[in-house]
Amino acid sequence: MGRLALILLLTVLGCAPDVPLCDDCLVLYDVTIIDGLGKPPVEHQVIVIRDGLISEISTVSDFEDPPSNSAMDVAGMFVMPGLIDMHAHVTILPMNEEGGLASNMDRAASEAVLATLLDFGITTVRNPAAPTVDAIELRGLVAEGIVAGPQIVTAGSALNRTSASFGPFVSTPTLEAIRAEVAQQATLGVDYLKVYSSLPPEFVLVAIEAAHNHGLEVIGHLQRTTWTEATRLGIDHIAHGAPWSAYYLPEDRRANYNGTLKDRMFWLENVDFSGPAIREMIQLMAVSGVTVDPTLVAYRTKFYGDDPHYLSNADSVFAPPLVRDIWARGAFTSDWSADDYSQGHAVWPQVLDLTKALYDGGVLLTAGSDTPNPWVIPGVSLHEELQLLHDAGIPAMDVLRIATYNGAVSLGLDERLGSVEVGKEADLLVLRANPFDDIANTRSIDWVVSDGQVILREPWLDPFK
Ligand SMILES: [Zn+2]
Repeated sequence: MGRLALILLLTVLGCAPDVPLCDDCLVLYDVTIIDGLGKPPVEHQVIVIRDGLISEISTVSDFEDPPSNSAMDVAGMFVMPGLIDMHAHVTILPMNEEGGLASNMDRAASEAVLATLLDFGITTVRNPAAPTVDAIELRGLVAEGIVAGPQIVTAGSALNRTSASFGPFVSTPTLEAIRAEVAQQATLGVDYLKVYSSLPPEFVLVAIEAAHNHGLEVIGHLQRTTWTEATRLGIDHIAHGAPWSAYYLPEDRRANYNGTLKDRMFWLENVDFSGPAIREMIQLMAVSGVTVDPTLVAYRTKFYGDDPHYLSNADSVFAPPLVRDIWARGAFTSDWSADDYSQGHAVWPQVLDLTKALYDGGVLLTAGSDTPNPWVIPGVSLHEELQLLHDAGIPAMDVLRIATYNGAVSLGLDERLGSVEVGKEADLLVLRANPFDDIANTRSIDWVVSDGQVILREPWLDPFK
């Protein structure tokens, strides 16, 4: 972006920060860089942004051309790569008359969610299943600069073996239907293919073969097909942090498990993470390079669905009214009793332990929220996800890498984004507080740079001010 454009932008936004300017560039002077690659922070650095890219990084003492008008300061602040939410349903679907999700996006609510994500420092999202035409339209609106938002990498409708298509799902009851749907989505221009929980292995295999033939990678939200089977079949990515398949339970307990949401507590009580089935699964996934976004916050809001932290979360204002209305009609756990929730709280550490086992086993983890599922607030929830990954025992340095560079690797975009390095796109967060002191400091965002453009946040967004 040129200097004029930057000045115009700052003028439009009303309060020019004292950003050091040089001809056609933006300089972040005397900052601490957290590179997103897992290296320790480096103090007293200068970052020069030109034409949307990071064009130079040097130390303050080596910087040739100290900006003359550097009255202010980002001095002492922390700069990290923009966050990547690997599971953000940005194509917001209203409810239809029958109380199910409609199959057309609400454009205003979708735009509101995209703007909120940027405010919370999310500069790239993976949109994991949405009506195909709408998903591609929304991706284009952002790419062309018509709608402000994070860069979108999108799936189309998720392939499932349901009797009818609805909301973000398309019914593919036969192998022929799968091949036809994959071909159609590829023609329309999706970035990858999403397969859903009721597909058996022979269906998942055909979907993978068809997608790969069209040059598309496949992500699975799986249950009927185990993660072990899907990995052997060549799947590329897994969404959500636990394989809720009976196969992983001891043989004598499999018949007691029906795969419902409540049953997941039984699954967690009976699964043995150090047993051969899970060990083999993790090893296979690590060797095959299958990546996982655990979406811990999507589970936490279920197992702790009685928690005032979610039910009366002041941050809910960041969700559009349409989304809050859907939440008010009932979460997935609205039939749970107090006893069910106590059981949920008791098994929660198992969810974290499995994430830690995947991490320790060398599976590439990414960070995703599954917004806007009930109480999973756009933007806010990804910062909660980072906290939960840290709670699982993952060091803060790696949590930040998971939420930035790993996401870019998983999307195949690591040449362009995901780290603070020369040549990368200038998608950056400027933080006032050090996230290594407290991972919650990822919310202390002073400003966001997206594609080299400064996005100033409203001060009221900020709980630290
Ligand atoms: Zn989802």
